Amino acid sequence: MRERTFVLIKPDGVQRGLVGEIVRRFENRGLQLVALKMVRISKALAEEYYAEHKGKAFFEGLVEYVTSGPTVAMLWEGDNAVAVVRKTMGATDPVKAEPGTIRADFGLSIGRNVIHGSDSLESAKREAALFFRPDEIHAYERSQDAWIHG
Ligand code: UDP
Ligand code: MG
Repeated sequence: MRERTFVLIKPDGVQRGLVGEIVRRFENRGLQLVALKMVRISKALAEEYYAEHKGKAFFEGLVEYVTSGPTVAMLWEGDNAVAVVRKTMGATDPVKAEPGTIRADFGLSIGRNVIHGSDSLESAKREAALFFRPDEIHAYERSQDAWIHG
């Protein structure tokens, strides 16, 4: 099923110059970029975005981490985009992530794991609405689509 999923390159990914590398991996996969912008996340937005983790031991550190510098927010579209992005990112803890995934190839610590991707279609919709207005999301035809979606 054609889906749209939300991806955030966290402040460490931006600081370490990984934006191009990460975008390239999703483009290579055949996913279609439909929204992209830099965002300096406020404490209020971070707390809403990560509301499901409120009260957990890592919550305060997580809010501090995602608000510590600019991030890059994106929406990627394609068949099974939610699962494809999660697989391409790898497990939450880079130590457990499979080699070849973004978190394994560029991370060592769960507290600096470079990237976020929605865990379900429902989360994707919620997160997309937190970061993008409808007029910032672009539906367009790609001439290569017939060679990507069978
Ligand atoms: N996190 C952390 N310590 C933990 C678990 C999570 O610092 O023990 C951070 C980490 O940045 C992770 C984010 O909290 O990406 C959200 O956690 P979640 O379990 O939703 O993982 P994700 O969906 O990002 O794989
Ligand atoms: Mg999550």
